[in-house]
Amino acid sequence: MGMSSSSEVLIVGAGPAGLALALSLARAGLRVAVLEQQSEAMLAEAADDGREIALHHASMQMLETLGVLAELQAEQIAPITAARVANGRSSRFLDFKPKSAQAPAIGYLISNHLIRRALYRQLQNEPSIRLLCEQRMRSVQRSEAQAGVLTDQGEHQAQLLVAADSRHSATRQALGIAAHMHDFGKTMLVCRAEHALDHEGIAWEWFDLPRTIAALPLHGRCVSLAITLPHAEAEQLATMPEARFNETICQWLEHRLGPMRLVSPRWRYPLIATYAQRFIAPRAALVGDAAVGMHPVTAHGYNFGLHSQQLLTQVLLQSQRRGLDLADASALRRYERRHRAYTLPLFLATNAIVDLYTSREPVARFARDLGIALSSRLPPFKQAVLRQLTRGA
Ligand SMILES: Cc1cc2nc3c(=O)[nH]c(=O)nc-3n(C[C@H](O)[C@H](O)[C@H](O)COP(=O)(O)OP(=O)(O)OC[C@H]3O[C@@H](n4cnc5c(N)ncnc54)[C@H](O)[C@@H]3O)c2cc1C
Repeated sequence: MGMSSSSEVLIVGAGPAGLALALSLARAGLRVAVLEQQSEAMLAEAADDGREIALHHASMQMLETLGVLAELQAEQIAPITAARVANGRSSRFLDFKPKSAQAPAIGYLISNHLIRRALYRQLQNEPSIRLLCEQRMRSVQRSEAQAGVLTDQGEHQAQLLVAADSRHSATRQALGIAAHMHDFGKTMLVCRAEHALDHEGIAWEWFDLPRTIAALPLHGRCVSLAITLPHAEAEQLATMPEARFNETICQWLEHRLGPMRLVSPRWRYPLIATYAQRFIAPRAALVGDAAVGMHPVTAHGYNFGLHSQQLLTQVLLQSQRRGLDLADASALRRYERRHRAYTLPLFLATNAIVDLYTSREPVARFARDLGIALSSRLPPFKQAVLRQLTRGA
């Protein structure tokens, strides 16, 4: 065995959740190692993956604290001034606006790769974080006092092991934690398109069978499109000539944004949501998508990831202050309880909304229209949804 390391916390996965956790822990004085299968150059220059991450106010505050926002240019942060949800050809839509003039936006959009690059740059200033790149987690070993992982290059030990290695987490599996999986049988195609008319900062979501389209407002006359389709149709849309693609999306959006033009590659994501049955195991915890892998439609995935890293940091520091083991079981249970209470209702509600809004059953179409009509007349419902979107505002 070549390389070995020992730290207080070992995080598997240098994605946006793992990196945020590493920074939070290191700044609180802990020695952290982050194990990642990609090369360091790939982290430093994380490739554009087409994801525009909608972040609510509490998440923006966390990114500010982590130093991410200071790394970005103003035009790399796009405000969402309102959100509209429409059902097919129906003229009714559900409209979400900020509660007051003090909150000019209901949320903000930042590209996933820019968040990853900024987190990596922040990591460079933290001598107590050790980055172990080009190493894939192969198996987990635990004893009374230590947890560790084996890779092809060596063995890494810590007091606490954290899985942050995506919704299909191999670490979660190696820890013997099962996960509930919901395969929606669809693919989400994402891309950026320029257009002639002003989007006014409004995020649109159209449930228009057999597809769902979200148009998220970026800076200038540009939107991020997220189009959900059955796999074969998504494949067709991803490979059709650009001119035909431009005409197609223009039609699908009923020319609301005027003529449109593709200005990025077309990325595809098969839609599978996951929810781990446990978020902890002896000497181990799950964060980010490894704990909760959301359907992107309600834009909660990374918001939950940031919540998980903040909560785990809090409980670990409480254990440290009380002179307890970092992997103290009752502290980890507190983390699990609180993160589950925060995420489970939204995980279930998101899956139910997706099922309702993608069903071809006539009764579902009626329920969708009725839902939108009622919701627009019921301010408490809208306020509840908006509170969810703007938590921490
Ligand atoms: C199309 C799309 C749109 C989205 N939009 C939003 C949105 O608007 N708002 C929102 O909040 N969220 C959104 N999300 C969700 C968000 O992108 C994820 O929640 C977030 O990226 C998860 O981060 P993570 O660090 O947990 O996992 P990942 O980003 O998956 O990172 C996992 C890391 O672990 C590494 N790794 C994996 N296996 C191993 C191994 N065996 N050994 C070592 N390293 C390993 C990987 O290389 C990777 O670097 C969207 C997702 C998609 C697909």
